Formats: sequence, structure tokens, C-alpha cells
Amino acid sequence: LVSRKKRREDTIVQLDGIAIGDGKPVLIAGPCSVESLEQVRQVASVLKQTGISVMRGGAFKPRTSPYDFQGLGVEGLKILKEAGSEFGLKTISEIVDPSHIPLACDYIDVIQIGARNMQNFELLKAAGDVRKPILLKRGLAATLDEFLHAAEYIVSRGNTQVMLIERGIRTYEKATRNTLDISAVPILKQESHLPVLVDVTHSTGRKDIMAACAKAALAAGADGIMVEVHPDPATALSDAAQQLNFEEFARFLAEVKKSGLL
Ligand code: PEP
Ligand code: MN
Repeated sequence: LVSRKKRREDTIVQLDGIAIGDGKPVLIAGPCSVESLEQVRQVASVLKQTGISVMRGGAFKPRTSPYDFQGLGVEGLKILKEAGSEFGLKTISEIVDPSHIPLACDYIDVIQIGARNMQNFELLKAAGDVRKPILLKRGLAATLDEFLHAAEYIVSRGNTQVMLIERGIRTYEKATRNTLDISAVPILKQESHLPVLVDVTHSTGRKDIMAACAKAALAAGADGIMVEVHPDPATALSDAAQQLNFEEFARFLAEVKKSGLL
């Protein structure tokens, strides 16, 4: 069902007035983790001023170490909803268990399924049973075929509002956090009618090349870019090294916009 052979026209994901996949790329930004209402309000205010309409923020955080910050859980979703409504932004957050689906339906606009759960088939089925847009991340070591099959799990249960997001894959290269597979963009766009986005934060892990990678992604045909922004990255409870502060975000945005691709 996700194949171009089944459907020639692009799927356009609709978030009220915002369309993703209609040929005009979107920028999704926000903190790695929701840490407090004040933190999310500060980010939301900057996004609003910049003309960005979709905000991300993690409430259920799948961390490598069990001793690292695990996220605020449902409290985090409530904070996102509050800041999102105050500033008129759509919200995206990750859930990691099928039991989170009702919470997601109450509090957020787009459900993110993270790289670590790309093949959590029960979660994919549960996401397919609701009628809410899903942002599906490519697994750390997933082939494009496996990625598309994961999306098929969702779409085959009737939820057609699915977006794919390349977030870098595990290779031997250590210069970047993961290896951004830019070729995934045109291949996924050819193979599938679903919108394709690129997460420049988790793929690169490097602020110095994020704008270049965003431009490359857009030039390759991406329908959107995701980037992490935090009021004070040095004190962030997750991904402190690679979240952009507001000044860095402004520079990132200016550089990407200068290309005329966004
Ligand atoms: C995230 O976007 O917050 C995240 C955890 O990313 P990924 O699943 O791609 O590692
Ligand atoms: Mn992160």
C-alpha cells in the first residue's frame, strides 16, 4: 500500500491548515526532551516568531542508558499541548508503547515512532488503528525495504497519514553520530508516495554541518527537515551537544533559506 505502484499521487499529510508532502517543505523544530513548561514556552515563542508551525519535544525518551533522563512522560505531553495551544503550534512527540496511544490522541497532533521502535510491530499495529498522523523514523540499522515494510504495518491497518523520516544509520564512520543516508530521500520518494523528511540533528550530531545537510536533503527532494532547538543546550537533559541554541537556530535557518530550498 505504501508503494508508488499502488498509488501514483503523493500522500499529503494534513495537520489542520498545514500540509506536509505538497511540494512545499516544512521545518519541524523543538527540544530533544520536554523538560519544563517554561523551556517549551521559550522554544514555542521563537518558533512562532520565525513562522514555524510544527514543534517537536520528547516526553517518553528511549535512552541508551537506564540511568539517563527518561523523559517526563504524560506530564511532558501535557506541557506540549499547553505550549502548543498558547502559541498556535502543532505538536509532535514520541511514544514507545501501544498503551501510550490514548494519551497521544488526547495531547499531541503527530505521533512519532522512534528509530529504536521502527520494528516494534505491536506499536506499529496500534499506530495503524488510530486516525492520527504518524512520523516513522528509520531504524538504526534498517534497510529501506525494512523501513517501508514498517510503514506498511501502519497503513495496512487503515491509517494512511504516515510520514517517513531518515535519521542516519549506523556505519563504521565516527566523524558523525550516525551516517546520513541522503540517497534514502530520492529512493523513498520514488518507491513510495509517503512524505519523506530528514532529521539533521540525530543523523549528523554536529552543529557545524547541519545547515549543509539540510540543504542537501531539500535538494534531494525531502518534504521537510527536523532539527532540535533548546533555550540553553549546555544544561539540556538529553542531546546537550547537538541541540541548537536560539542564535544558532537563527543562523541555521538563514543559511538554509538563502538556498531558496525552504
Ligand atoms: C528523537 O527524535 O527524539 C529521537 C530519539 O530520535 P531517534 O529515534 O531517531 O533516535
Ligand atoms: Mn535528541
